[in-house]
Amino acid sequence: MTIENDDWRLEFGKEPSFYSKYSWSWRKWTRTRPHWDHDHCEFCSQKISDLDAENIQHEGWTDDEETYWVCKSCFEDFKEMYQWNLK
Ligand SMILES: [Zn+2]
Repeated sequence: MTIENDDWRLEFGKEPSFYSKYSWSWRKWTRTRPHWDHDHCEFCSQKISDLDAENIQHEGWTDDEETYWVCKSCFEDFKEMYQWNLK
């Protein structure tokens, strides 16, 4: 799948250079802070959480600090454009 430069998700995600200092790993989402029960994919806003509900993904790609989360399909779709550093 080729991603167009005007893909709607690129309006939400930051520039490739912004993410280039992070290395990414596939992780199960866990609560790292009290009262913090979900994150969103940087690009498509997919909810990633440990909550058991419809339309919630439980795993995703994230940096070491788990500050940024990218869902499986966005990570795959943007891999050529973003050249993710994998752990
Ligand atoms: Zn996504």
